[in-house]
Amino acid sequence: MRTLFPGKPVTGLARCIRTSNVPASTRLRFSSTLQAQAQVKTDPSPSLPPLSILPAHVLLRSLLVSTISSKRFLLIPALSFMSFLSKPNRIWLFDVDRNPILHGILKKTFYNQFCAGENAAECRSTIREMKDMGFRGVILTYAAETVFDHSTQAQHGQGVAALKSEDGNVSINAPVSQCPSIEAWRKGTVETIDMSDAEDYLAVKLTGAGIKATEAFAAGDLPPQQMMDALDEICTKAKDRKVRILVDAESQHFQKGIARVAVELMRKYNRDGYATIYSTYQAYLKSTPATLANHLTVASEDGFTLGLKLVRGAYMATDERSLIHDTKEDTDNAYNMIAQGALRKNIGEFGDKGSREFPSVNLFLASHNKESVVAAQKLYKHRVTSGLPTVPVRFAQLHGMSDEVSFTLLQMNDGDGTPEVYKCSTWGDMGECLAYLLRRAIENRDAVLRTDNEYRALKAEVFRRAKLTFSLSPSS
Ligand SMILES: Cc1cc2nc3c(=O)[nH]c(=O)nc-3n(C[C@H](O)[C@H](O)[C@H](O)COP(=O)(O)OP(=O)(O)OC[C@H]3O[C@@H](n4cnc5c(N)ncnc54)[C@H](O)[C@@H]3O)c2cc1C
Repeated sequence: MRTLFPGKPVTGLARCIRTSNVPASTRLRFSSTLQAQAQVKTDPSPSLPPLSILPAHVLLRSLLVSTISSKRFLLIPALSFMSFLSKPNRIWLFDVDRNPILHGILKKTFYNQFCAGENAAECRSTIREMKDMGFRGVILTYAAETVFDHSTQAQHGQGVAALKSEDGNVSINAPVSQCPSIEAWRKGTVETIDMSDAEDYLAVKLTGAGIKATEAFAAGDLPPQQMMDALDEICTKAKDRKVRILVDAESQHFQKGIARVAVELMRKYNRDGYATIYSTYQAYLKSTPATLANHLTVASEDGFTLGLKLVRGAYMATDERSLIHDTKEDTDNAYNMIAQGALRKNIGEFGDKGSREFPSVNLFLASHNKESVVAAQKLYKHRVTSGLPTVPVRFAQLHGMSDEVSFTLLQMNDGDGTPEVYKCSTWGDMGECLAYLLRRAIENRDAVLRTDNEYRALKAEVFRRAKLTFSLSPSS
């Protein structure tokens, strides 16, 4: 019997590129361990659309979610309902972890679209599926985090809830050496490393460790020793397993402390000519060029590799507006200037246009903006083929979002193994992941044009496969 979606059986790029052997001499080698050797000879002008790589069940689920995301009359009630569900202490009927029907519906739709799994087995299966689609690897993150709402001056999220729900022997003023929130965060993070393979990434949200940590971050300080010890354990274990760590940027209220931790870790663990630890730079903040210049200085003076993960920024809804660029265009320009500056090894006073030598940098471009990532890959390629200095670069999009951008990048591989594209996914039980799911839904609401483009591309792919099926069907 013919399936409705004959495009389903896919192994990575196989459907988009033609493979053959490449002599070892034609393989590209880069000077860092981020090097990617050419494994395949590819056709630079693929004939199939990027979304043809998606397995049928993922395509249909993506279409369902993007239909909801792109229609305001569906998205607004969906957002209100998810916001209602994410409040603590819901009655059984509205508790996503206790009501199996509610859990099942959310799991098959929003959860599976954006999250990796509730346990190790589910996560491994999702990771395998992604690598089979052609992604270089995954970025896995544990869901717990704390968000600071500038307008209400309140913290909310899993890290806070974890501590507040404690009762009995442990009080909120318990000695930090016993802080159960830090311990729970350590455990969840170590488990995440166990699920990852070499060359995968672990993304850490430091506020997930709860109020002892967030109090320190809010004051611009390092967190308690218990957490610094946990971070040492995590970094050592990750390095042993060749897993790299992205320290996520979070609410502006905590960011100074978080960035301090990231620099401490980079100084200690990025001493082998490549980055095990990356700090995240939010291009939407007016202060980011100064922060980056400061970190380039420290990297240069202390002799470590700066792991530069660049994002636009996800906390516009809660952060202080005046700290963020006035227009989207300004944020776009800031993003592209930093990305392209790093690829040209020229940022501010660093590089051959400035007075100081450009330090060792590994770049990670996390974005759904096709223009930014395609331009960056083209520039990188141009510099490599012209023998011009550049830095190793990797790309990532979030799981369940902008697949068209991810697959467009994958199709740019013309045989040298670049670009290396990752998908970033969150794991945790449904309750833990709700805040994350809500943020994704809000992001889709705010990115109207992108969401609409995604919806159209997915719809076109469904029609293409349906047309193919019917044109293949024997006439009766
Ligand atoms: C793998 C991955 C990891 C990420 N990690 C983090 C992280 O650690 N911390 C974090 O904060 N973000 C992170 N992000 C980014 C965030 O989640 C959003 O995906 C991102 O901000 C959306 O921007 P974009 O680059 O995809 O491009 P676009 O969709 O083109 O840009 C949208 C973004 O532009 C900015 N913007 C929109 N309107 C305006 C305006 N009027 N004025 C100024 N700026 C505006 C906002 O940042 C908005 O999110 C990550 C993204 C990915 C893909």
